Amino acid sequence: MKLYNTLSHKIEEFIPNTPEVVKMYTCGPTVYHFAHIGNLRTYIAEDVLEKALKYTGYYVQRAMNITDVGHLTSDSDSGTDKMVDSAIAERKSVLEIAEFYTEAFWKDCKRLNIRKPDVVSKATDNIDVYIKIIEKLLKDGFAYQSNGNIYFDITKLDDYYKLTNHKADEMVTGVRDGVEEDTGKRNQGDFVLWFTKSKFQDQELKWDSPFGVGYPGWHIECTGISIENLGEYLDIHCGGVDNIFPHHTNEIAQSESYLGHKWCNYWFHGEHLNTKNAKMSKSQGNIITVSTLIDEGYKPLAYRYMCLNSHYRKILEFTFESLKANNAAYLKLLNRISMIKSEGDFQDSAFNDYNEKFMNALKDDLNTANAMTVLFDVLKDESLTGLTKLDLIRSFDKVLSLDLISEYHEKEHPQHEEIMALIEKRAEFKKQHKFTEADGIRGELAARGIELVDTREGTIYKMTEVD
Ligand code: AMP
Ligand code: ZN
Repeated sequence: MKLYNTLSHKIEEFIPNTPEVVKMYTCGPTVYHFAHIGNLRTYIAEDVLEKALKYTGYYVQRAMNITDVGHLTSDSDSGTDKMVDSAIAERKSVLEIAEFYTEAFWKDCKRLNIRKPDVVSKATDNIDVYIKIIEKLLKDGFAYQSNGNIYFDITKLDDYYKLTNHKADEMVTGVRDGVEEDTGKRNQGDFVLWFTKSKFQDQELKWDSPFGVGYPGWHIECTGISIENLGEYLDIHCGGVDNIFPHHTNEIAQSESYLGHKWCNYWFHGEHLNTKNAKMSKSQGNIITVSTLIDEGYKPLAYRYMCLNSHYRKILEFTFESLKANNAAYLKLLNRISMIKSEGDFQDSAFNDYNEKFMNALKDDLNTANAMTVLFDVLKDESLTGLTKLDLIRSFDKVLSLDLISEYHEKEHPQHEEIMALIEKRAEFKKQHKFTEADGIRGELAARGIELVDTREGTIYKMTEVD
């Protein structure tokens, strides 16, 4: 698999530390509000990445955090805590807010067929982990205490800005929107690991620590949760491009200083979803949620379809006109697939050829648009039997996750259990070379309108008469 690596600033062959096993970390949502479809574009890209890795033969271990403390309104440690602001506005406790919007996030993921990562951990459940890391950073001289807070000293590193490729523009982002200068910092670029004396004293969630009662900074969460769940060597770390600086830059700084070696080899970043003039974000007041799409009469999966038709590293401009066109194309696609009859022989070599093309598109820096083209080529190919087409579509959908196979095709026979038992019995007969008996079962089922098809994965059945 070839992927663009933000760290090396080029497309590279993806080689995990352990052959065939991928350790993947994803920055999770800050659960102070509904996720907007921009956020969800990034989660769709990461979902496709995970599924594509699995599809091409890797075993993927994936972890993600839920940010329920410490993410301030400015990424550069100034402003107020987004969770606290939301709790005040909604007259709820921070934990109630976190619970409500975490549930809402999973609901949106489900509607978009985004798989929940194997490990999901809340920032507030890992305080002891951050304390352990911060203590070591202090001991080793990478961190210092000032004005009651613990800061990371970025001048202790030779190449703090390596992820951004030293692009001055991006590097000063934090300073630009970071309103006022923090006089506690030794260097303007230093960032907070632990707050005990925040500018606002009404922070609801605080914990005891060797550095005083307080709460963790946002960046340390991901370092802690990743190392705790995936170990010292990470293969791939994901997020949206706005996370490159300062968040991921700071994650690298603190993780590698703590571990004493390189931490993560590949950095995967999804480009933004923009509205006409600006990035979609809550602060711009231009957000659209999955519920908005549903209310406007669109299928959430039409939005996934729209995302898959563009490359994850290109800015996608959202308009309702383009969603409308994608929604229509998606429905047409579903309709077309539903007309395919599960009939004919299974064409092994054609299946493998198309599957190879599909995988090659994914291996080409996750070119989902080309992968979709392969799907359309399958639909157009008149030399393919219906059975082969459906098997290919079913297979591709493990990555695309567009619910392409209609209910008609997936419908189980009312006597499914019994049929499966007969299929097993037939396989036994065949093993014992009792072909007459095996054919007897085939005939018996055929008389009931059930046709058996032997595929590479085993025998499946299709119904010739469907009610
Ligand atoms: P947050 O909940 O703010 O921590 O963001 C969750 C994820 O969404 C992060 O990976 C961000 O980089 C990403 N993100 C934020 N805004 C956008 C956008 N307009 N388009 C795509 N991804 C975004
Ligand atoms: Zn993160």
